[in-house]
Amino acid sequence: MQTIGVDIGGTTIKLGLVKDGLNIIYRDRRFSPREPQQMAQAVFDMVSTARKRFPNAPVGISCAGSIDGGGFVTAAQLGWFNAPLGEMIETLFGKPIPMDNDAMCALYAEAAYGVLKGCSTGILVTFGTGIGGGIITDNRPLRGHGGLHGEIGHMLTHAGGRACSCGQVGCWEAYAAASVLRQMAGGMPVKEVISRVRAGELADVWHAYLNEVALGLASLMMIFAPEIIAIGGGLSNAGELVIDGIRQTTQATPSFQIFNPFTRIESARFQNDAGILGAAALAEMQPE
Ligand SMILES: [Zn+2]
Repeated sequence: MQTIGVDIGGTTIKLGLVKDGLNIIYRDRRFSPREPQQMAQAVFDMVSTARKRFPNAPVGISCAGSIDGGGFVTAAQLGWFNAPLGEMIETLFGKPIPMDNDAMCALYAEAAYGVLKGCSTGILVTFGTGIGGGIITDNRPLRGHGGLHGEIGHMLTHAGGRACSCGQVGCWEAYAAASVLRQMAGGMPVKEVISRVRAGELADVWHAYLNEVALGLASLMMIFAPEIIAIGGGLSNAGELVIDGIRQTTQATPSFQIFNPFTRIESARFQNDAGILGAAALAEMQPE
C-alpha cells in the first residue's frame, strides 16, 4: 500500500509517499503560504507532482491548529481563524480529502505503528510550542460532538492563572509547554536547558517544570485510566532524561500511586515524521 501524507505546519508543508505505513520513499517540502487559498493550491501542486510517480495514491492531510467537522481551520501559527481550507482543497481535488489536526494525526501514527499499537486505552501528549495530543479509548480515537478533537493542552490546571492564547486563563499549556520551560530558564533554548540539567545544573527550574507537566498527566490518568501515556513533540527529542523525569514526577502523584499504578509513561516512537505518517494512516483509514 502506498499513501501520500501531507503535513501542514506553521513554517513548512511536508509531503511524504509512505509505503506499508512506515517507510517514506519520496519527500517534498515547501514554505507554508499565509493565505489559505495559496496553501490549498500548494498542497494540490505537491500532490500532483507526487502522483506523476505514484498514480492514484490516496492522500491524507495533517494540519496545525483546530479543525472542525466542516474543514474550517483555526491556527494561531498560520494566523487563521475559521479558514475554509477543507472546502478549498475539495474544490481543487474534485472530492473531499481526509484532514485532521496534527496531534490527532500523530496519535493515528502511534496507534497504527508506534508505542500505542494494540493499546485499548492510551494517550499521546505532545510538548512543543503548545501542548497537543489525543486519546484512544476502547481501541478508538476519542471524538467529541460533530467529530471535534479534544484539546488536552487547554485543560485548566491553575484556576485564575495565566492568560492562554485560547481565551481561557490557567490552561495546562500556559504552564507546561516546552516553550514555557524556555521562559522559566530565562529564555535559554530547551536543548541547552536539557544539557545543563544533564550536567546537574538548573535542578530547581527542571523540577518546577516537571511538576507542571505532572499536574496535567495526573488529571489525564484520573479521568482515563490509560494503559500508556506516550510523550511526543519537540521536548521528547531530548531523550531518556526527559522521559525519566516525567515518569518519576508523575509516579509520585496520588493519581499514579493510588489509582493508576499500571500506567506506563513512554516516549512516542515518531518525532519529525509523525505528521506525514499520521496523515498517511488517516488516508488508509478511509473507505475506498
Ligand atoms: Zn488555553
